[in-house]
Amino acid sequence: MKQSAKDDIIQSQMRPGVITRDGMLGEDRRNLCDILEADDAAVRRLGLTHAAIAARMRALRDAGARGLGLPIGALDHFEVRVDSVRGKLPCPFRHQGMFPKEFVEVRNVRSGEQAMFTELNMHLIEAHGFYEGLGSAYRQEPETLARVLEIVP
Ligand SMILES: [Zn+2]
Repeated sequence: MKQSAKDDIIQSQMRPGVITRDGMLGEDRRNLCDILEADDAAVRRLGLTHAAIAARMRALRDAGARGLGLPIGALDHFEVRVDSVRGKLPCPFRHQGMFPKEFVEVRNVRSGEQAMFTELNMHLIEAHGFYEGLGSAYRQEPETLARVLEIVP
């Protein structure tokens, strides 16, 4: 895939200090289109879709929201804590609307592994197949999400 002028504009929104202090690219020097392509391939190798991954994240988040900021058991053997802070973030792909600043911590009680993601992560995965750049604080590895959240084809 070739990076378009529109991709350049979107990618500039992901730089540090534009939408978030640290940005969404980490140390990743690749073009946005190459980041998207590599993660799309990783998701397909897992036999999954971005929609299926986002749906599982959403289900865990929704189950955990009942804890009102405290860890709560969810979906049999997960423990989820949903923490909201003030403020909203726009989508770097220049969608309309703003996304609440919300952090979701998921612990797989059976394996002991944890995952942490935000409301914006769920949107970026679902709508754009974007998992953030390598080294970004909120980078979501598709393989890790699939394993920790037990997302199966
Ligand atoms: Zn968007």
